[in-house]
Amino acid sequence: MTSELRMNGERLMASLYELGAIGALPQGGVCRLALSDEDRQGRDWAVARMQALGLSVTVDAIGNTVGVYPGLTDTPPVMMGSHIDTVATGGLYDGNYGVLSGLEVIATLKDAGMRLRRPVAVAFFTNEEGSRFQPDMMGSLVYQGGLALETALATRGIDGVTVGDALRQIGYAGPASVGDNRVDSYFELHIEQGPVLDEEGLAIGVVDGVQGISWTEFHLQGVSNHAGTTPMRLRHDAGYVAARIGVFARQLAQELGGDQVATVGHLVFTPNLVNVIPDTVTLTVDLRNTDAEALRLAEQRLWAFAEQAAHEEGISVSRNMLARFEPTPFAPEMVELVAAQARLRGLPSRRMPSGAGHDAQIMAAMCPAGMIFVPSVAGLSHNINEFTAPQDLIAGANVLLGAVVQRADRA
Ligand SMILES: [Zn+2]
Repeated sequence: MTSELRMNGERLMASLYELGAIGALPQGGVCRLALSDEDRQGRDWAVARMQALGLSVTVDAIGNTVGVYPGLTDTPPVMMGSHIDTVATGGLYDGNYGVLSGLEVIATLKDAGMRLRRPVAVAFFTNEEGSRFQPDMMGSLVYQGGLALETALATRGIDGVTVGDALRQIGYAGPASVGDNRVDSYFELHIEQGPVLDEEGLAIGVVDGVQGISWTEFHLQGVSNHAGTTPMRLRHDAGYVAARIGVFARQLAQELGGDQVATVGHLVFTPNLVNVIPDTVTLTVDLRNTDAEALRLAEQRLWAFAEQAAHEEGISVSRNMLARFEPTPFAPEMVELVAAQARLRGLPSRRMPSGAGHDAQIMAAMCPAGMIFVPSVAGLSHNINEFTAPQDLIAGANVLLGAVVQRADRA
């Protein structure tokens, strides 16, 4: 039955273009920063779509908006969600695609006159992007209980306005209390925002988890001296140690393999002059892995190497953790539902981690969660040229449809 259920792809594409016209930038792309007037217009548009589908719509105190399509039983819903706020130079698809596909899943069920055993919900969460207010994924974090509502409401944005005031200004400080919603499970359909599916010519990414993140900042302290008169054996060169750490990080990722990645993204020499041995260097190493144990091992090896390299050069090293998030594995039964739908529909797919953060990783703490990726051409996202071919968008939405039907109709 589910393999025959297909959504109206043209209607999905039309809705993406319609929402994308709100806050459209002259050179292409879109700007709807969280809780801005453009965000309000986008929200109003999405709520109108929910109401036209006959969904019962609730807005909670942090502005998360949920529409529910009833099931045959009064049980917690299978939720589909994402976000409709964007970065300042965003594309049409990041977040919006997941929300609009969720609406189309419900429209398809409604058109077919189908009610499933469980209710099906579609949600958009407030301030996923974190461009105006920190932290990102704020709405889902409050929803899940990982961030206190009062703390979130008091957060000041880059323009000095608090989240609470901005919510009131746009009329989305809703009456529903946060966190009293029971959810059966959560699916998020999203563009990959990376190059893997595009490069490998695959239609579907079966996302098995979100990478853990470890950001270490090293501070190296050596001795500044003349580049011409100081013999090599007498140097305490912080720049040399920084370079060794950078090379080691790359080799470590290659040696550990799997999903391990390592990046030196920030490196500052002092005094940073052509003929002076640098005495201080700060550099950062960004390590990511989907496996918690492997990430810990990578950190330990990196830190041990930095100590050793500093010791060999006779300089000192200290380190400071800038960020640390454990990996979030998705529920195996949700991952398998997505994989089975890709197979059923003859869509080439692969298992993969998410390299970016998503509301799904927050929701994974309160219910079984899963994600579906579709290709991003050239891996571009947070960019006005973000693009996914309509056929890929429609294929991904059909996988969402099938997975939701299976999940919501299970015994
Ligand atoms: Zn997103």
